[in-house]
Amino acid sequence: MIKEIFLQKIKERKEKEEHTPYIRASEIGGCPLASALRLKGFKPFIDEDKLLVFEIGNAVHLNFQSVMSDILEDVEKEIKDEQLGVSGHIDGRIGDTLIEFKSISPFALKKSRNELPYQHHIDQVHLYMYMMGLRKAIIVYIEKSSGAILEYPVEFDEERWEGLKQKIEYIKSLVEEPIEELREVSLEELKIEEWHCKYCFQKANCPAYENLKI
Ligand code: SF4
Repeated sequence: MIKEIFLQKIKERKEKEEHTPYIRASEIGGCPLASALRLKGFKPFIDEDKLLVFEIGNAVHLNFQSVMSDILEDVEKEIKDEQLGVSGHIDGRIGDTLIEFKSISPFALKKSRNELPYQHHIDQVHLYMYMMGLRKAIIVYIEKSSGAILEYPVEFDEERWEGLKQKIEYIKSLVEEPIEELREVSLEELKIEEWHCKYCFQKANCPAYENLKI
């Protein structure tokens, strides 16, 4: 009974989140077509098991924000840039440094420790830094089983920022395209890899997926 109620509540919350007409900062490192499909009104498919995994990550996240509440400023501050068409919530800030918490599974940490911080997380904190007027960030990974904490400082990189601005414009251009025209986009054009599609919540709605030969 409790599981059903809990799942219903988190589904309701997730549906409210989907309604934003802005590109979410957390989407910027992902597939541009997945963002465009959400903005076109396609609802993502999220299976219940993944929702529960996200909630555990969320709980770890909230705990760090709560324990550090006396030194973290702007916790969960909503940020929006009308010109860019981007919105998001930052985890917090300590002085002039943006703090971004990420939970990570033991499996992912073992498999990809050398790849941390992930490029899509660096992209996300660049949007936050830009919108907050900050030049420094720390991405903090918390391993969900052992509680190991890994910290990675990130400096604002102008070249990366220029690329992100282009990506934002590209997402907007995809939103304007009729859905049938999106069948022909390629992995190269989207600048994504196969794993994006493997874990994509918009796969069932994606007009390009069948042509991508994954
Ligand atoms: S299935 Fe692949 S190409 Fe389609 S939206 Fe998802 S990640 Fe993008």
